[in-house]
Amino acid sequence: MVVIGAGQAGLSAAYHLRRSGFEPERDFVVLDRSPAPGGAWQFRWPSLTYGKVHGMHSLPGMELTGADPARPSSEVVGEYFADYERTFGLRVRRPVRVRAVRDAEEDGEGTGRRMLVESDAGVWSMRALINATGTWDRPFWPRYPGRETFRGRQLHTAGYKGPEEFAGLRVVVVGGGASGTQHLLEIAPYAAATTWVTRRPPVFREGPFDEDAGRAAVALVEERVRQGLPPRSVVSVTGLPLNEAIRQGLRDGTLDRLPMFDRITPEGVAWRDGRRVDADVILWATGFRAALGHLAPLRLREPGGGIRVEGTRAVADPRVHLVGYGPSASTIGANRAGRAAVRDVRRLLREPSLSWA
Ligand code: FAD
Repeated sequence: MVVIGAGQAGLSAAYHLRRSGFEPERDFVVLDRSPAPGGAWQFRWPSLTYGKVHGMHSLPGMELTGADPARPSSEVVGEYFADYERTFGLRVRRPVRVRAVRDAEEDGEGTGRRMLVESDAGVWSMRALINATGTWDRPFWPRYPGRETFRGRQLHTAGYKGPEEFAGLRVVVVGGGASGTQHLLEIAPYAAATTWVTRRPPVFREGPFDEDAGRAAVALVEERVRQGLPPRSVVSVTGLPLNEAIRQGLRDGTLDRLPMFDRITPEGVAWRDGRRVDADVILWATGFRAALGHLAPLRLREPGGGIRVEGTRAVADPRVHLVGYGPSASTIGANRAGRAAVRDVRRLLREPSLSWA
């Protein structure tokens, strides 16, 4: 069996595999393309301190305690994941990038067929796959006319390193999610001017995000995935938490939002009604999509563009489990998905035609 990805979802799956008696390297391998432990957290900007993340859940079996909220979450989580992998002997192979997963051309049908995982470190043949590749590797850049004519700099959240580099510049931030608001609030004190544009008016959420709200949000994403549609971002269903920093941004005008511009010009952005904003930088905080290109040969996608899953199992191919996908794309969801996927994989491998090899 192969687990692809060693972020929260992949490590949770690996932990539950071990608990179920599967031995790393003998019964399963974990492949991760990142250079170090930490999943996508290791790439997040230094000013995203541990205190600023919205409730990161510990991995199963080992709490993350006593972390300094002022330290970058990339360091805190990187060290915690490294410790976790050591403690449970998970033996993640890295950096190993999986290029493609395809059917092996050999006897057997349905769940009995083997799959080949092709990577830059060799090929693995296996009966079950737990895919936990997250979204960080696939930043989403919407297309707007004139994009290539812009004379300034364009970057995505995935390339954001902190606010200092925007000192004295005019910055347009695109996107109504948590990243967009965090970028704006950080950049505004440095920049000559900031402008916030979002496709839909942002929805702010009063009060704590309790379990009921969490369940309702997950149910909405689940429904889309069940229909074979691409999952929506978590913020699109939870709303933005109205914390003190956001209240302040609303009061001082940093979070005055404009509707989405219609085109990009060499000097900035423009709306159909003649309004223009000159800019040196356009920062696209427009989210990420599931990084599943390597699964294309298995043809799991539905006409709606998503992969239908029941629980974590791909409806089109029960050998494949997607964890950290759609409704499980949060640290708590990833934990649960890892456990559920392992339960299902054990059932699959227990079928007589599928004796462990
Ligand atoms: P990742 O952490 O992305 O791990 C995937 C791993 O797979 C990576 O190490 C990657 O290198 C590897 N990989 C990808 N493709 C391949 C391949 N082809 N071959 C081999 N390896 C591959 N959630 C919360 O619950 N609380 C928060 O506060 C929070 N804050 C967030 C802040 C930001 C800016 C973002 C973008 C997301 C945030 N999330 C948060 C969501 C959260 O990051 C995820 O739900 C969770 O950490 C993702 O874990 P994962 O294991 O699914 O993916």
